[in-house]
Amino acid sequence: MTTKALAPDVSTWPAEDTQLVGSHCADCAATTWPQQPRCPRCSGANVSELLLPRRGTLVAWTTQGFVPKQPYAGNETAATFTPFTFGLVQLGDVVRVEARLTESDPAELRPGMELELTFVPFYVDEDGTEIVTWAFEPI
Ligand SMILES: [Zn+2]
Repeated sequence: MTTKALAPDVSTWPAEDTQLVGSHCADCAATTWPQQPRCPRCSGANVSELLLPRRGTLVAWTTQGFVPKQPYAGNETAATFTPFTFGLVQLGDVVRVEARLTESDPAELRPGMELELTFVPFYVDEDGTEIVTWAFEPI
């Protein structure tokens, strides 16, 4: 089966030890993810690619208990949808990112828990290509 990443530009997948790709502003030191051509803080164009730490800590989370409204890339229906958790993850002291968590039981989550970047199957498209997406898993 062919495998592709959802939004290939946001990470180094399928490289080993995949990292998310953010951007860093040389003028005001702001870091953003995903990468942006201009700095969202100072509007400067003096931004460069920055590979983000693979590990982070959990800041906050919510449970997605129903099929998200459009635009949503997945192709589950209300009958096939499995609830998942979505977390705000602090990567080092660099940046906070929002991402799916591999732990779907919110009772297993706690603030400050250590997480590591991984890629998980998301859905299979019409051509039979498996689409994977980034997620964070407890270490
Ligand atoms: Zn800036």
